[in-house]
Amino acid sequence: MGRIHVLSENVANKIAAGEVVERPASVVKELLENSLDAGARRIRVNVEAGGKKLIQIIDDGCGMVRDDAMLAFERHATSKIRNADDLVSIATLGFRGEALPSIASVSRLRLETRAPEDDAGTVIEIAGGKLLTVEEAGLPPGTSIAVRDLFFNIPARRKFLKAESTELSHIASLVTHYALAHPEMHWELHSATNAMLIAPPVADHSQRIYQVFGRETLDQLLPLSAMLPLERIGLPQPPPWRRSQPEEDEVAEPVKGDIKLHGFVSRPEIQKLNRNSIFIFVNGRLIRDRLVQHALTEAYRNIVPPTVYPVVLLFLEMPFTEVDVNVHPSKVEVRFRQSSLLHDFIRDSVRAALMKARPVPAFVTEMRAQPTASPSLSPRGGVSAAEVGELGVTAADAAFALHAPETPSFTSRLQFEGSGIAIEANAAIPVARFGPQTFGGALQPALAEVAPPTNGCSVTVTAEEDAAVGLESLATLKPLGQIRDSFILAVNPQGLWIIDQHVAHERVLFEKILKQRLAATPEKQQLLMPLIIELTPSQMAVFAEISDELQLNGFEAEPFGTRTIAVKSTAAGIKADEVEHMLHEILDQFEREEQSLNLEKIRTGIAATIACHAAIKVNMPLEQNKMEWLLAELAKTDCPMSCPHGRPVVLRYSVKDIQRAFKRI
Ligand code: ADP
Ligand code: MG
Repeated sequence: MGRIHVLSENVANKIAAGEVVERPASVVKELLENSLDAGARRIRVNVEAGGKKLIQIIDDGCGMVRDDAMLAFERHATSKIRNADDLVSIATLGFRGEALPSIASVSRLRLETRAPEDDAGTVIEIAGGKLLTVEEAGLPPGTSIAVRDLFFNIPARRKFLKAESTELSHIASLVTHYALAHPEMHWELHSATNAMLIAPPVADHSQRIYQVFGRETLDQLLPLSAMLPLERIGLPQPPPWRRSQPEEDEVAEPVKGDIKLHGFVSRPEIQKLNRNSIFIFVNGRLIRDRLVQHALTEAYRNIVPPTVYPVVLLFLEMPFTEVDVNVHPSKVEVRFRQSSLLHDFIRDSVRAALMKARPVPAFVTEMRAQPTASPSLSPRGGVSAAEVGELGVTAADAAFALHAPETPSFTSRLQFEGSGIAIEANAAIPVARFGPQTFGGALQPALAEVAPPTNGCSVTVTAEEDAAVGLESLATLKPLGQIRDSFILAVNPQGLWIIDQHVAHERVLFEKILKQRLAATPEKQQLLMPLIIELTPSQMAVFAEISDELQLNGFEAEPFGTRTIAVKSTAAGIKADEVEHMLHEILDQFEREEQSLNLEKIRTGIAATIACHAAIKVNMPLEQNKMEWLLAELAKTDCPMSCPHGRPVVLRYSVKDIQRAFKRI
């Protein structure tokens, strides 16, 4: 019995319309999703010439009987939904019934399929939308669809395809991320004779990440898992427009449900310059969503600088009625029904995972991971990646300088079809280690380090595996001195540490101020004489909005004329001659905010500004006991790895890095 039917015009009209075949990767996406919907356990993708010449997807899913195989190429023919009500609760990746006819109309397509219950399979050939042959054949159960010569009959579109390597990287990114989402399945991607990905089933997502990207990437990621119970799910039942007379007993009990979140987020020291390494799956579907992006930005606020992005792989599972996928023809955009609840849930879960880890940036990773985002310590002039470990030596003759290291040349980007989803080829991998290919067997260190000859000097210093050192070890640091009265050098068994004294103190004060604010016990200092400060009209407007909050942080100020205020007291630690500058800074930062202010933003903004002005400055000599005090205070903070503006506080040069630089390992 066939399962596919053509949707009525009425239902078809309710489906988000639009073209889905933009480029080879979009064909791959539609066909992959069909294989997943067909319950496949094994998916093999073969491409040639970046998919321009051939895209073939072979699965071991439910296959199609002969009639279905014919019907599948009709527009709006699908086995996945029947009526308009089904559209509010879509459980499959596909539902539009348009992919196969669209693909068949712009290529030479060959379908081979057999349902396990049938003896014989069906082969169908179509070119440019015209049916050429339908034959019976002995075939294994499952489906193979080969798409050749994409856009052969639309030269204008063929011309717009990118270079083979670009199209291939889009496909590789797509297949890799679907493989990450389904660790229980067997995945393969072959480009001509080159096996780009072979991933047999593994037990869970972290094993899959290890399998595909390697140990180093896995170490940079923090796992998270959380659940949010919902009081009610979906639309009210029955929907308002169907209700005749709302009688007491007709009002159905709200149905409860859960949102589950799990996945991985990168440690704060892994900083990407764009959002291309953020992957979000909702009920198994790869999506792009501003709400989720915003929640992530909020989670990383005050931990990474606002201009950099983390690496994220998140899986959200929720009742199908909670998410509308009928928004965009290629189904990459969705609408959540309880969006603000979901936003806060994601923000809080990610934040909790980050706080739990309290990781320290490794010195070398820091340099590799932040090509231009924020200044990091590096010698002047280019250093080859292999030399990065020798920084200390190279830096000795180059004048000590703070500037942004060069962007590594090989972070080629992998983009998804027109969706704008892309990753850097080396996603979370510190850039110095790997070459441009990161898929499957290609994942080999690009700069193979040649083992030095052993000459009796290569006794290895015993060091425990120190991929991620917890902040507990900060408490054991012994300060040695300062570099240029600005950076504290310290050691412990975990290596050599450099602490930026200003941002370290800033972090300490920031957390202290927030705590005092919560307890409503600000430390303030009275000014000898009220300070009269002039404000611009917009500063004045912001002042009116946040003056209560300022007061709760120790600033007693009141309007004194239309454009001036009189400040009587300030937060502790602020010198009188800095008060004016600091107040302007606080007011200006909220003036520039595009979005509406929320209390948390105001509080953290004020605390960060006070902390910055009250903190120990650079170029300030510190006594030994002052350095010890600062490190001890820093060790007590919740988030000692970065300053409130997201800059790193501490860099660590691990024993392993030191050994590597001295060619002992
Ligand atoms: P949709 O996925 O939106 O239903 P498609 O045009 O992608 O529309 O596919 C049409 C129908 O063909 C599907 O509903 C499904 O029944 C069938 N089909 C497509 N690909 C496969 C496959 N790999 N295995 C089994 N059935 C498939
Ligand atoms: Mg489909």
